[in-house]
Amino acid sequence: MSDKVLIIEDEPTIARLVTYNLSQEGYETEVVGNGAEGLHNAIHEDYAIIFLDLMLPGMNGFEVLQKLRQNGVKTPVIILTARNAEEEVVQGLKLGADDYITKPFGVAELLARTSAVLRRSRNEETKEAEASGGEKVIALGDLQIFPDKYEVLLNGQWITLRPKEFEVLLYLAERPGIVITRDDLMNVVWGFDYIGGQRTVDVHVSSLRKKLELNQQTVQIESIRGVGYKLMVSRKAGLAGR
Ligand code: CA
Repeated sequence: MSDKVLIIEDEPTIARLVTYNLSQEGYETEVVGNGAEGLHNAIHEDYAIIFLDLMLPGMNGFEVLQKLRQNGVKTPVIILTARNAEEEVVQGLKLGADDYITKPFGVAELLARTSAVLRRSRNEETKEAEASGGEKVIALGDLQIFPDKYEVLLNGQWITLRPKEFEVLLYLAERPGIVITRDDLMNVVWGFDYIGGQRTVDVHVSSLRKKLELNQQTVQIESIRGVGYKLMVSRKAGLAGR
């Protein structure tokens, strides 16, 4: 996999901030200041990750993202949005962005989101490579998920999940640290033609949470208000028996 990062951003200060910090981490970076050129490079070259500003001169970030996905380019995309731009975030995620960062952002957040998105995309590559055999296990903190058997082991104990709860958990667990919209969960777990509405997603997540919180603390499903959910894995807290 390429270690090259493409930054499509017309604000020099933001572009420099991303470039500087990712270079420090060993990535090769490339900055493009407009959407059309960014799209061209993204289609014709191989990048590990693309940072995409939404408000760009000429072709905006939404169009870039849409055309990119239409062209079958699966490179992970992190959109760069203004503060308080929830609708932009939702639209970006719907168009196939993998995550977002709100400007202004700190270095720690930039690096954390970058590595989470890369981890996910590398996991998917590995999974595709392993798709032909062997029992698949997803291990996150105290949680082990066996996708083929619909079984979950939590802190050494089997827990009972309803099929839809299992599917929600599996989808989140395959994308740790990534914000998943309710729409995504609806479409993947219930299918496009389901009429029940997003409330159904919330009910299942809430029930799932209760089951996961019974006896451990390392895996949590966080709510992202107005957007959806993400599964977070933390190191075991030093305090016993919270
Ligand atoms: Ca801009």
